[in-house]
Amino acid sequence: MRVMNRAGSDLRMRITGENKMAKKSTATLKTKLDRVFSEYIRLRDTAGHSKDGYFRCISCGQIKPYSQADCGHYIGRQHMATRYNEINCNAQCRFCNRFNEGLKGGYRKGLIQKYGEDKVLLLEAAQKSTVKISECEYRTMIGFYKEKIKELTK
Ligand SMILES: [Zn+2]
Repeated sequence: MRVMNRAGSDLRMRITGENKMAKKSTATLKTKLDRVFSEYIRLRDTAGHSKDGYFRCISCGQIKPYSQADCGHYIGRQHMATRYNEINCNAQCRFCNRFNEGLKGGYRKGLIQKYGEDKVLLLEAAQKSTVKISECEYRTMIGFYKEKIKELTK
């Protein structure tokens, strides 16, 4: 009986340990994907797809240099279903993104101008779904956006 209990608790410890490791590596992959995806979005929206270029902020419409670009999320980053959605993410100036609470009204107008109202409505509906991204999907998306950056900047 004692042996079985011990084996049981060993197994539990091992499972908890594995979960922790899986969580850690998923968190690392998420950070990596955030970085690559953000670079892709900012380059996509910058004239000449070059870090020397200028972009128009999706919310305030001002033209600013690439160095002032953030990857601004229309639906907040906490919603995983739309976190890596290319319509949800657009070059946004630092001021709007960081100090102006994303200037939501302006962002929506900018989105409709850029993609049309239908796509914005679909995007708003997608926000409510629950999505869990697997480690394998993270790796695939990181590779995908690295390739897209290469294509864009060659
Ligand atoms: Zn702005």
